[in-house]
Amino acid sequence: MTQIFDKIVQKLSLAGIESPRLEARLILAAAKNVEYAEISAFTELNGTECALAKKMLEKRLSHKPLDKILGHREFYKYDFLCNEDVLSPRPDTEILVEQASKLIFKHTLKNALELGVGSGCVILSLLADFSFLCGTGVDISAKALQVAEKNALNLGVQDRIEFVNLDWNDADFVSAFKKKFDIIVSNPPYIPSADIADLAPEVRDFDPIEALDGGESGFDAYERIAKIAPLLLKENGYLLFEAGYNQASEISEICKKNGFRLIKTEKDLAKIERCVIVQKN
Ligand code: GLN
Repeated sequence: MTQIFDKIVQKLSLAGIESPRLEARLILAAAKNVEYAEISAFTELNGTECALAKKMLEKRLSHKPLDKILGHREFYKYDFLCNEDVLSPRPDTEILVEQASKLIFKHTLKNALELGVGSGCVILSLLADFSFLCGTGVDISAKALQVAEKNALNLGVQDRIEFVNLDWNDADFVSAFKKKFDIIVSNPPYIPSADIADLAPEVRDFDPIEALDGGESGFDAYERIAKIAPLLLKENGYLLFEAGYNQASEISEICKKNGFRLIKTEKDLAKIERCVIVQKN
């Protein structure tokens, strides 16, 4: 008799889903409400669990990403709630947290700003790791901020974060901030508009378009942020960006034009230049 685990793996594979065995385990763990590690290829389900697993599988076969079906995802060291109002946390972004973390630790930085906070996975990971750090998280989407607020509560850092619902393209954006920051982090929208249609359906149809669309060139958000960041940073403050594929050198140039010096770019595990670190002149 074919086990349920194998059946799920087979269906996910046929649908072209990348990590079918991992996802099958996550679906079975959620259906049984047990830890992922408790699932094996021989796991059995009762009727209710089976119905639950089937429902999740159907959604996944329609290319809804698993984190948005389960309602949460692990990122860096923590678990974050997510839904269709936020960009799903991605392993690619962990390098941004890692690099920010090194600077915060080395220089005991106390005030961080995130532009485009989404689920909050970046700044909330930093706040959870450094009890001396205070954060401000900005997003154009009020619905995204509701998710970030819940994540702040879950991590117990709600007293050290302030959320602001604003569009950084607003002419008076900078004047909304009374203090200056030691560090700004951002994973802004960076996909060139014309490329959106070719993205995987998991991204194109389920991540918010405001979190993806970087304008015609893909660099609109970097241009805007590099322009306003010097006004929001203290002397020698740091700006850290996540970069899209092949964008790091152009981002460095944009930052240099706006009063920053390049500290370094950092590759992710796939050897793509994923993080650009600059410092205010
Ligand atoms: N990393 C995302 C993707 O390529 C894009 C997120 C972004 O634009 N910041 O799927």
